[in-house]
Amino acid sequence: MLGNGRFTLENHVLDSIQESEVVRLLQALIQARSDFPPGDCRTTVAVIADKLTAANIPFDILANNPHQPNLVATLPGNAQTPTLLFHAHIDTVAPGDPAVWRHPPFSGAVENGLVYGRGAGDDKSSVTAQIMALLTLARAGVRLNGRLQVAVVADEESGAHQGTRWLRDNHHLQPDFLVVGEQTQNQVAVAERVACGIDLTIFGKSTHGAMPWAGDNAVMKTARVLAWLEQKLFPQLAAKSHPYLPPATLNIGKISGGLQWNIVPETCKVEMDRRLLPGETRAAAMAEIESLLDEYNATVEPLKYELFSTGKVAPNINTTPDEPFVQCANNALQDVTGQPQELTGYVQTSDGRWFAGDGFPIIIFGPSDPAVGHATDEHVSVEHLVTATKFLTLLALRWLN
Ligand SMILES: [Zn+2]
Repeated sequence: MLGNGRFTLENHVLDSIQESEVVRLLQALIQARSDFPPGDCRTTVAVIADKLTAANIPFDILANNPHQPNLVATLPGNAQTPTLLFHAHIDTVAPGDPAVWRHPPFSGAVENGLVYGRGAGDDKSSVTAQIMALLTLARAGVRLNGRLQVAVVADEESGAHQGTRWLRDNHHLQPDFLVVGEQTQNQVAVAERVACGIDLTIFGKSTHGAMPWAGDNAVMKTARVLAWLEQKLFPQLAAKSHPYLPPATLNIGKISGGLQWNIVPETCKVEMDRRLLPGETRAAAMAEIESLLDEYNATVEPLKYELFSTGKVAPNINTTPDEPFVQCANNALQDVTGQPQELTGYVQTSDGRWFAGDGFPIIIFGPSDPAVGHATDEHVSVEHLVTATKFLTLLALRWLN
């Protein structure tokens, strides 16, 4: 595969990866439910703990909430530093209606080279590949020049308060290089957009539903304002670009307004998801909307509104493509696949953002397509899963050599 006698050790290690074992681990993780709510990860983490124990690999179970344990395994090397951290989350979203699935969502059924189940892509395939890479290196007796850690975290789908944020803020994770396992279709991603929730409330004047002319209907006004924003703001957002990411976007996620059918509504609230590109800030994104609403007020009709945004907006992952760690990763991927590889960006937002301000290189890499995560019939290809395992093994072998 690597095609050169110089890489005998690499070939030897990679050839020891057994597809059947990789698939069995993913199936066992899918069968041990960890869907949110409630996102109880105890049985899933136990599957991994058993496997590590059998291989004599040291690990810690770290939990702020006992039902949402995190597991951090360490392959000690010849040196304490640097620490290369593989990170992926073990919780999943809910399965929805199991009856509409091709295979039961917690079966881990394999059909035509695809493993099906909730978490098959997001994110148990990444957990599987990362744990199998660690096991492969440990069994081969490789002594790396640095520490390889794998963090299997809970609570990614519900805010990371018991998972990555807690681990990082309490110094349980202190990597020098980080691979975040999320679905990048086995490409090396160097950037992601971050989510910024913004609420817009539009005010009108209530009155009896029989006399709409005497009031100012906040719901109807909101409909007009949103049409205006679609026309004015969306092209501005679409013009913002990044070499590896889709443009900035705004999603109107939820609208609520009015009290009941026979009252003219006084207020209407719009909950929006603004995805920020690297370099954008919440304040700038809000100012952009504000200026258009003020223009609406000045040129279309009087408008009384409030914009509100709260919660922590993490910095973007935006790793320089010529960073040696990125280059090492992309070369390893090319060698494992035998194909030229292009860097990419991650379309969604990962737990890696909690480290994005810490100043070390971060890449995002994982099997499966982000479009099948959170969907009915979520799946991953066995080939992708095994390739990801080989890539992570080779990356650790080369970067900590
Ligand atoms: Zn995920």
